[in-house]
Amino acid sequence: MPRRHTTSSVSSIPPETAATFRRRLHRWYRRHSRDLPWRRTRDPYRILISELMLQQTQVSRVLDFYARFLDRFPDLPTLASAKPHRVLEAWEGLGYYARARNLHKLAREVTEERAGVIPSDPVQLRALPGIGAYTAGAVASFAYEKRAALVDTNVARVLHRVFAPDVAPKSGAGLKRLWQIAEQLLPRTGKSTWLHNQAIMELGALVCTARAPRCGACPVRADCASRERFVEE
Ligand code: SF4
Repeated sequence: MPRRHTTSSVSSIPPETAATFRRRLHRWYRRHSRDLPWRRTRDPYRILISELMLQQTQVSRVLDFYARFLDRFPDLPTLASAKPHRVLEAWEGLGYYARARNLHKLAREVTEERAGVIPSDPVQLRALPGIGAYTAGAVASFAYEKRAALVDTNVARVLHRVFAPDVAPKSGAGLKRLWQIAEQLLPRTGKSTWLHNQAIMELGALVCTARAPRCGACPVRADCASRERFVEE
């Protein structure tokens, strides 16, 4: 039987449970993760572009846009000095144009007020245009290898199903609980945190999907409180 993580235990995941979860997840990630261009870099500018493009947009769709956008605006100063309509033009087809406008504002602000350096601290990142809690954690972790938690839709789904099936993941309180769990699961070092965060997101994208989770192929099924809810066809 999978272990049930009750409401009272959710606020504190036992260290041995967290360690087992990480070990299984990380081993799976090393074998099954996709080779994506933003995983081959630690350049904060490139990470930021990928994270903003990936919000509400499928990876397969982002791949082309990401490469073309970077051909046109290879670095922050080039983007900061571009005309607004050129930035929107390069974003055309991706939708959610507020992302492009905010990105352009951010490039100008960082160039003018931060000597062109994208901050590594999630709190400072959140003060920039268009940067929410998830993106701040992603840039800190994926670009700077900081020990920072992050919760996006995929991560929320995995953590909810494995550790907290009794919370409403879209409610404020539920989301807060999922952030607490994400923090409790973090490895000790920033370098391992890079892999850990990528791995939870990848599990949510490839195995623990919204409509048809593949529990039979899931590396963390032994500890998952929801695995019996889903019957594979
Ligand atoms: S066992 Fe199933 S529900 Fe649980 S994390 Fe894995 S895929 Fe998701």
